[in-house]
Amino acid sequence: MKIKELYKSGQPVLSLEIFPPQVDYPLESIFVTLDHLVELNPCFLSVTYGSGRGDRPRTAEIASRIRQQYGLEALAHLTGVGHSRAEVDEILDQLIAAGIENIMALRGGLPLGDPGFDRAEQGYRYAVDLIRDAKRKYDFCIAAAAYPEGHPESRRLSQDVIHLRQKVNAGVDVLITQLFFDNRVFYDFMEKAQRVAINVPVVPGIMPVLNANQIKRIIYLCGVSMPASLLKLVDRYQHDPEAMAKAGVEYASNQVQDLLKNQVPGVHLYTMNKWAQVSEIIHNVKLR
Ligand code: FAD
Repeated sequence: MKIKELYKSGQPVLSLEIFPPQVDYPLESIFVTLDHLVELNPCFLSVTYGSGRGDRPRTAEIASRIRQQYGLEALAHLTGVGHSRAEVDEILDQLIAAGIENIMALRGGLPLGDPGFDRAEQGYRYAVDLIRDAKRKYDFCIAAAAYPEGHPESRRLSQDVIHLRQKVNAGVDVLITQLFFDNRVFYDFMEKAQRVAINVPVVPGIMPVLNANQIKRIIYLCGVSMPASLLKLVDRYQHDPEAMAKAGVEYASNQVQDLLKNQVPGVHLYTMNKWAQVSEIIHNVKLR
């Protein structure tokens, strides 16, 4: 089933994101986590695409088993970075053979410390180029990334929104956002998206803050802002991991509750493969 159909029900669609274990960990370890996540009754699961060549094939394998073993829909992420166009076609053929109907089409992060990296030579320069080709050659339901605070490489949010519009024009069916910690950021972004007639479901992505180090890394990597209320929590609990995780779950639950009140099409939880905390959030907001 194509996940775009789920958003037509008028009910909030719960989706959960997991990442494949790195190659030096057994693949089976993710299925222990999945056994728990599936109990939460998500509408679909998304599986990220790694930056290391070794773990990349695991995305398709896990997505395929999500469908076969659990009978759930899967959204397989794919990045253009580091692949030639022929390689991307090969991966898309493999996904079709594995019964996957949904892809998250991304550019991917540029290799760190390699300013001369020539993306065009490697294949797709931007996500929009991958989306355009995938739409022309295949029949996938295509999701793509949106950035309520702008992509870190963008000078202006308005420019980023225009690029987002181009992705939708190229054939995106669903947008899933980068995590954010202040819902007003999302609501403001939605106004801008509506102004350029972005009319596909825009699903907010929420990540619970479970420890102080994680949040520092996220802010550095994703360029998202942190409201004073969350800063205070991190300050108060940074040396008490248990209390920090509890506060992070409560903070994320409040965010989700507020988003649902504001009639979002669904909620995408970045689980970081932590089923217990995600389970608490879903229980708190009665999303099961
Ligand atoms: P793009 O949409 O191509 O945008 C990248 C930058 O280029 C932006 O600044 C944009 O404004 C600019 N741009 C776009 N088009 C043009 C144009 N025509 N001309 C000039 N500038 C342009 N990464 C992974 O490696 N694996 C994953 O599984 C993964 N999953 C993700 C899931 C979600 C929901 C999100 C939000 C991000 C995910 N990422 C993942 C991270 C993502 O790969 C990075 O943020 C990456 O830097 C950008 O990818 P993109 O598809 O958004 O790129």
